[in-house]
Amino acid sequence: MTELERLVDFHKHGERQGPGSAAQTLKALNLLGVADTRGLNVADIGCGTGAQTMVLAENADCRITAVDLFPEFLERLRDRAMLKARGEGITTLEASMDSLPFDDETFDLIWSEGAVYIMGFEEGIRDWKRYLKPGGYLVVSEISWITPSRPKELEDYWMNAYPQMDSISRKISLLEKHGYSPVAHFILPEYCWTENYYNPILSRIPGYLAEQENSAEVRAFAESEREEIDLYNRYKEYYSYVFYLARKTS
Ligand code: SAH
Repeated sequence: MTELERLVDFHKHGERQGPGSAAQTLKALNLLGVADTRGLNVADIGCGTGAQTMVLAENADCRITAVDLFPEFLERLRDRAMLKARGEGITTLEASMDSLPFDDETFDLIWSEGAVYIMGFEEGIRDWKRYLKPGGYLVVSEISWITPSRPKELEDYWMNAYPQMDSISRKISLLEKHGYSPVAHFILPEYCWTENYYNPILSRIPGYLAEQENSAEVRAFAESEREEIDLYNRYKEYYSYVFYLARKTS
């Protein structure tokens, strides 16, 4: 298995593939003020196994195209959708977020939780804008600095892992630069990382190691997951995911 295949194989068993919660997805949806709009056309980019897709389907009058690169995730999403009312409004699409097959001005709303970093925040918001109808909304969650300064070890780590790691105000400036009008932003609370994402990972690791016969490769994978979690536990006051809500203006 390649490193990427390993990631998918492990994370497909998760309820979600990044920090977040149903309550925070709903909060973002409510802040948009689209509750009374009928027939919203929505793209959910980097949907994973669909944690946020299900919340959107259940709380907005919409049809959703849920996009991910990995069919294993989309298969789980389809299983989840089948069990839910409104699940029939969800269509899955296996595609890469940097070459989407959509026509211009297709969507009322583009949603992307914990995924735009894969192509880079600036590239994502810039390239996806054309798929939005005029006045359409963009909602992305993006890892960001939440304090004005931070320890050098942490800064070095992130500059290496994700050079676009930046402050909330700079992220909002980028939205403005690329033709969006900022609507709101808020920081994901700690439980979105711990209870909803990292704790389930930690509890799945022993079983996964056993299932994979404790191979050196899987042990290295588990170690890298634990390192990420350890970094978060040591430095969580300095960074989090932040929801950014914006409207296409030009
Ligand atoms: N939105 C989900 C998943 C976030 S993790 C949640 O919050 O739980 C990031 C997701 O992006 C993963 O599901 C991963 O498979 C997907 N992804 C990775 N590279 C991608 C690409 N090039 N195009 C589309 N999706 C991609």
